[in-house]
Amino acid sequence: MKLARFIIDTHVHAQRHAAGPELKKRMEKRGKQVKYADLAEIMHTLDTYDNSARLLYDMECYGVDMCLLSSAFGMDDSLNLQLVEKYPDKFRALCYPCETKKKALKGEIEWTIEAACEELERKLSTGKYIGIGEGSPARVFPEGVKPYNYTRKERMDELRKVMDVARKYQVPITTHTGSPMGYPLSNTMWPENWEPRWIHDLATEYPDVTIIFEHGGQSGGTSALLFEECVEVAANHDNVYLEGGIYWTDLYYLALRNPNVGPEKIIWGTDWGASQPVITQIGNNPQSYVMQVHKEGIVKHQIDVMGWSLRQVGRLDISQDDLNLILGGNALRIFKIDFPLTRMFKFIDWL
Ligand SMILES: [Zn+2]
Repeated sequence: MKLARFIIDTHVHAQRHAAGPELKKRMEKRGKQVKYADLAEIMHTLDTYDNSARLLYDMECYGVDMCLLSSAFGMDDSLNLQLVEKYPDKFRALCYPCETKKKALKGEIEWTIEAACEELERKLSTGKYIGIGEGSPARVFPEGVKPYNYTRKERMDELRKVMDVARKYQVPITTHTGSPMGYPLSNTMWPENWEPRWIHDLATEYPDVTIIFEHGGQSGGTSALLFEECVEVAANHDNVYLEGGIYWTDLYYLALRNPNVGPEKIIWGTDWGASQPVITQIGNNPQSYVMQVHKEGIVKHQIDVMGWSLRQVGRLDISQDDLNLILGGNALRIFKIDFPLTRMFKFIDWL
């Protein structure tokens, strides 16, 4: 049985990197197994290819009605847009300043937040994108430039510029949280990734802009440290949402138990298309969870995260109307996606 009336996976990558040949070269040169860190290092510059055949298979298999596509690493927004145009009932796209990032990585331009926001504006003004992501635009460091940390104030001022764009076009913005543990996510890229509480300021300054914590503080491992911070921020501000998807069942319950979060402020997004395996530890609580395990090397098959994630959500003993909000109704509302029938989802007039 399908789990909800209309299911939207809000965090999906429909592109894959052709990483095999480059990883093989590295392995031969080093004489030992390559790791997720190698993959992360090369993915920003690699070409990507359309992986929608596998995605459409999983959507059909698990009754997922729609996916919101976003770009990460070396992915390209234009490929996502082509899929939206080809399957208008199944896909929508978020935008990211991919071109600015690629040019800066090649050393052709210097990355600035102004250039990144200009690209976002160019894309949003077409009306073809419904949000900003994956994550907020982040600085890049071309080869030969040593990555450096910058201050909280510097980063917050960058984020404010992105918030200005989101406010102008009235679209939700995403902020990435947590790590699957294999890809090295340092403070030089998304400092806010490890500091969800910084978002208190942005949520207060921009009460009219929806902010989504991607992964809701849990994108790998079993620690609830960032998760708890994300719940606290979301509970304080009506405009801050949690993306579940990598949550195991008990984490949903913890977020649902907070009356200032509840089913109205959780959306479902699995990060489908990312190489993030679900591992099993019999007897552990949780017994299965997402984690890139260094010693096992890079996973080669298409990880079935939708199936695992829907089973975690499916165990929730809550009303079907609340489940309908988490799995699609909230996303329809905050991303302003049309639904053919009225009165199919609970009225949320306090947000
Ligand atoms: Zn992602």
